[in-house]
Amino acid sequence: MKKNRFSIWFLSLGILVFSCTKTSTVRIASFNSPASITALSCSSVSFSSSATAGKAYTGTATLAYSGGNGAEYSIGGSIPSTGITGLTALLQSGTLTSSTGNLSYSITGTPSGAGTATFPITFGGQSCSFSMLVGSTSGTNSIPAPYNKIYGANSLSFDGTFITIQTSDLPDHQSCYYPTTNVLYQAFTGPTVNGNTFKQNPNSILSQTITIKIPAKPAIASSHAATPLGIMGIALNGVPFFNQYAAGGVALTSEINGFDQYYGHPQQNGMYHYHLEPLYLTTIKGTKSSLVGFLLDGFPVYGPQEADGTSPTGLDNYHGHTHATAEYPNGTYHYHVENTAPYINGDGFYGTAGTVSQ
Ligand SMILES: [Zn+2]
Ligand SMILES: [Zn+2]
Repeated sequence: MKKNRFSIWFLSLGILVFSCTKTSTVRIASFNSPASITALSCSSVSFSSSATAGKAYTGTATLAYSGGNGAEYSIGGSIPSTGITGLTALLQSGTLTSSTGNLSYSITGTPSGAGTATFPITFGGQSCSFSMLVGSTSGTNSIPAPYNKIYGANSLSFDGTFITIQTSDLPDHQSCYYPTTNVLYQAFTGPTVNGNTFKQNPNSILSQTITIKIPAKPAIASSHAATPLGIMGIALNGVPFFNQYAAGGVALTSEINGFDQYYGHPQQNGMYHYHLEPLYLTTIKGTKSSLVGFLLDGFPVYGPQEADGTSPTGLDNYHGHTHATAEYPNGTYHYHVENTAPYINGDGFYGTAGTVSQ
């Protein structure tokens, strides 16, 4: 009995000493704590402007973090690019928020060639590498400007006939389908497309290896092929477009209540995709009349409105028509997304589709 009392007394003293030590550590930390975060998303990177081989570049890379500790941080050291060399990234000073926020890196220099410049970064206890596409200027093989708007691709190249686009298909926006440990995970905030109760599917977004080849000079096809199940095009953020059918060619009725707040969802193998208007591109990154991507036939896809805010008129069976747009001042055939089935385009491809490998 006596022994027990002594033990309890001793234990209490221990806890008291430990509490005091802990308190004083916290006090010191709040005055001068180093920046710390719990996650850093290099796949979320976006750039203020695009770079071209051999031309001086000045711009800003922005990428997301989560779990910041509120600390201030100062300008970082120079990080030289690898792969395509000649560029340098420099962390800009700032103050971390206590939840999610963005880091900014200024990027300067002259890229050594066309391809991918990679910057390995370490910040607040986290590391990752972000990549920047450097476009080519060489003669006939410079990528036509509209296709350079595909900012979410890992690489873009042009052989004079086809644009080759490689993507990991990791959306640059928040989704309830990212694993909860991902900085871009966010619980569903609704509402669903048709106002029904949200029903999350059991799949999670996983990195893919997708290569798409689309003709740089799209042309009308003599017979208009139906769009396939699976990838039928690509959005500017590197996410594939799917048509108006679910697996097995059935209507989307059962899947539509599971679309996240930007109208996308992953299938069983983790491939995230849009069957409907890609809301992140028409409401956050752009407007209802913005270019949102391309179908495999190379023709561009625009949001549900024209530049003046009106609804498109004279659409054909494929949801398309021809006139000048911001990206094609001389005019082009283009699709418009609509808010009823078949949504992204109409009854098949207007032109001859390129290829997909994965
Ligand atoms: Zn689907
Ligand atoms: Zn139009």
